[in-house]
Amino acid sequence: MTDFATRALELDRSDPLRDYPALFLGSDDPQVVAYLDGNSLGRPTRATARRLADFVTAGWGGRLIRGWDEQWFDLPLTIGDRIGAAVLGAAAGQTTVGDSTTVLLYKLARGALALRPDRTEIVLDRDNFPTDRYLLESISTELGLTLRWIEPDAAGGVSARDVVDAVSERTALVVLSHVAYRSGYLLDAPAISAAAHDAGALLLLDLCHSVGSVEIELDTWAVDFAVGCTYKYLNGGPGAPAFAYVAAAHQAEFGQPIWGWMGRENPFEMAQGYVPAAGIRRVISGTPAIVGMIPIQDTLDLIEEVGMTAVRAKSVALTEFALELTRSWLLPLGVQVSSPLDAARRGGHVTIDHPRFREITARLWQRGVIPDFRPPQGIRLGLSPLSTTFGEVFAGVSAIRDELAAH
Ligand SMILES: *Cc1c(COP(=O)(O)O)cnc(C)c1O
Repeated sequence: MTDFATRALELDRSDPLRDYPALFLGSDDPQVVAYLDGNSLGRPTRATARRLADFVTAGWGGRLIRGWDEQWFDLPLTIGDRIGAAVLGAAAGQTTVGDSTTVLLYKLARGALALRPDRTEIVLDRDNFPTDRYLLESISTELGLTLRWIEPDAAGGVSARDVVDAVSERTALVVLSHVAYRSGYLLDAPAISAAAHDAGALLLLDLCHSVGSVEIELDTWAVDFAVGCTYKYLNGGPGAPAFAYVAAAHQAEFGQPIWGWMGRENPFEMAQGYVPAAGIRRVISGTPAIVGMIPIQDTLDLIEEVGMTAVRAKSVALTEFALELTRSWLLPLGVQVSSPLDAARRGGHVTIDHPRFREITARLWQRGVIPDFRPPQGIRLGLSPLSTTFGEVFAGVSAIRDELAAH
């Protein structure tokens, strides 16, 4: 028998990122044995506790309205550029922070569709996150467009072949998640980008489940538009604003439907008539959520320090270990793996299925093991590369084994 407890200790000891989990608040909380949901809500860093307190006293309290001129007006673009460089493979001037992912998806999808006015179809898939599906349903109703649905395999995801088969000269826009929120399937983004462009369509990627866990090269892959959350692997905090990427090539023509003063050229002129600001600023509508974007900077500090190659390597090692434990302990108890077994096609989480997982998840939470449950019968093991230890993976999967075996 492999001694997995010893293996977990050794993996943690030899982990190049072993010093990072201790930088997160709650990493020493004895009530939380294993936090396996950093892909839904990342932990705060200790630095964030200080940065937020300092922002309230020195920034907001000290600078008052002067803060807008000094820093806040540009902060969505300043942090956007840092996100672009650290985790998106995006050159400066293409990324901004603000709104929720849902709202940014709407703004970017509408803006993209306006660039293909003679086309009538949007390609999407049945396994995409609910908000993506609902929004595109709403847009198709609003504009009288047809939705062309891809039906991916539940444990897999949308292949480049699926996209080639779905697009045509009618396709205006393809909208997909880079990593599927349920299965964890990682798209072949460069091939899918090429498939969309070969048909003359545009590609909008949802990066919520990939940003901060897998390497992304938006500029190299020629992705047209992208959005993503900052409260998952980027640890921005509950409801932290999302980011939007508009490729430089589209910016001059791009327009979005929520015309607000903060996205206008020279907003403080308070002039008549909307004229979009130059560049990525035109994605902004109203006053940006400055308070909400303070914490993102601390995780960017860490990622800039270690680089995404190291983050992805840790992520793969964590999911591989989770799968190894699952194979030894959980498959004999009737559990199924509903994520890709090939690490090259897998993001930062692993989904396992069993009919009793709804009830078992509640008991796991009581014992301080915190994954999340996804209907109908899935447990998602979300492994956040900077904050999750191999010891937590061991504790989490052994708790699931014990719960399944005990009743
Ligand atoms: C988490 C997530 C969202 C959430 O969108 P919000 O507007 O922040 O609620 C959207 N899309 C995907 C793929 C997600 O994983």
